[in-house]
Amino acid sequence: MTDDDRHREKMAKRKAVQDAEVAEKTIEKGLLIVNTGPGKGKTTAALGLMLRALGRGWRVGIVQFIKGGWDTGEKHAIHAFGDRVDWHTLGEGFTWETQDKARDIAACEHAWAKTEALMADASIRLLVLDELNIALRYEYLDLDRVVAALKARRPDLHVVVTGRNAKPALIEAADLVTEMGNVKHHFSAGVKAQEGIEF
Ligand code: ATP
Ligand code: MG
Repeated sequence: MTDDDRHREKMAKRKAVQDAEVAEKTIEKGLLIVNTGPGKGKTTAALGLMLRALGRGWRVGIVQFIKGGWDTGEKHAIHAFGDRVDWHTLGEGFTWETQDKARDIAACEHAWAKTEALMADASIRLLVLDELNIALRYEYLDLDRVVAALKARRPDLHVVVTGRNAKPALIEAADLVTEMGNVKHHFSAGVKAQEGIEF
């Protein structure tokens, strides 16, 4: 047997295994996705999913819980999609910037009310809840209430939650959880946030 033959045989076997595995998976559902961990990429990956969903002709929504009115590249880019993106930046900034717990809670409650409205909007197929994990970590929102509402989402709605330190109850409820690990970050070498990469 030649090298080529061996390769072909091996790949044919692998394909059979792969095809059988794919055929086993038949469930369709709106996923609850969590991007967490200390490394960079949680929000970026959520925005990537928004782009993929937009490419399928869907309407998408995003609620930003903690971030305030920073000028980000994604906000400019998303204008190109018009009303197919329902974008709400409702945070007041990082908690150490506002230094006002009552105000943070009020901002998170406002963002959560918007979330519930978007979850009820049948025209939206993908909803990103950016930094919701931070709001839960600081107990600005009630964890049980949030998890119950996410679990009760429409069967065809995909929800993506981002932010470090995802709560175990949310991880438990989720279908897909990715932990971004920090192998190396330019910030530690004194490199500041770069336009087009960080914002
Ligand atoms: P991004 O929006 O770039 O995908 P992220 O959502 O994973 O980042 P956040 O916790 O929301 O991360 O923090 C946002 C900012 O912090 C980004 O500018 C990002 O580059 C930076 N950042 C993320 N991880 C680290 C890290 N390990 N060390 C320093 N800065 C980081
Ligand atoms: Mg982020």
